[in-house]
Amino acid sequence: MFGSHKLLNKMPQIVIANGTSTKYFHSSRLKGKVAIVTASTEGIGYAIAQRLGNEGASVVISSRKEENVNKATENLRKDGIQVEGVVCHVGNEEQRRKLFDVAKRKFGGIDILVSNAAVNPAVSPTLETDEKVWDKIFEINVKCSWLLAKEVYPELIKRGGGSIVFISSIAGFQPIEPLGPYSVSKTALLGLTKAIANEVASENIRVNCVAPGIVATKFASAITSTDVGKEKSLSIVPMNRFGKTHEIAGAVAYLVSDDATYMTGETLVVAGGTHARL
Ligand code: NAP
Repeated sequence: MFGSHKLLNKMPQIVIANGTSTKYFHSSRLKGKVAIVTASTEGIGYAIAQRLGNEGASVVISSRKEENVNKATENLRKDGIQVEGVVCHVGNEEQRRKLFDVAKRKFGGIDILVSNAAVNPAVSPTLETDEKVWDKIFEINVKCSWLLAKEVYPELIKRGGGSIVFISSIAGFQPIEPLGPYSVSKTALLGLTKAIANEVASENIRVNCVAPGIVATKFASAITSTDVGKEKSLSIVPMNRFGKTHEIAGAVAYLVSDDATYMTGETLVVAGGTHARL
């Protein structure tokens, strides 16, 4: 006998969802916390929202398309997560404000921001990239991450502290061809993390970053869906497989939790051993 059901219910559980390999953790590590996760109706953002919710946080999820927001909100609620969904293109100031308003109105404040949205509208060698493409990449990937942090800052102060996590990429350490400008935007997030972390440390706000390796989501399909792309992408990964979204989510959950109270200004690389050094 390994103990009563009562005891087991209080213990963290590993759950295999719907017969897939999606493992996630049920605990109460984030109970009472309110988290906003951008670009969270699928892929890595969805897994982060799911993980934070499964660890007890109330979560506000968002993305550009209402249909995606409704579907993801419904699925997370089925999972027992306290969640609200908001349509928010991170480049839209009014929609960003709505994210914060909903978190405050429905859940009473904000403790955690995960800035996960990124775009890569076109691929080309860096010096052949169209200026409009460059501007779009830097607007969404860097400027909007900075704006979200700037806008959430007063809310975190009201709570007596909080946590911000930026989602960068392994490409931020070593540019992935032909994603030069996107890679540079992800390098900028490493600097943004350090700059803000230093400035707000005395206010009990921690700012960290996660750099995922290649994860087979829609975003990465150009380099993961063909045999040639797969072989080339995996050639830099010692573990010889792509990451899974829940493996990125676990790192984020750790960083925003009280298990990481002495960590700020850091980037966790979750990339199957891929070389990561600037
Ligand atoms: P994904 O599976 O394609 O999901 C993208 C999500 O972002 C969707 O929910 C999409 O929903 C939403 N979205 C797209 N543009 C948005 C915008 N402007 N504002 C708000 N929401 C937006 O992508 P992913 O692979 O999970 O990527 C998530 C993050 O991880 C990105 O920052 C990416 O750079 C980073 N990353 C990914 C990999 C990888 O290999 N997949 C590796 C390293 C880093 P809507 O269409 O409804 O807006």
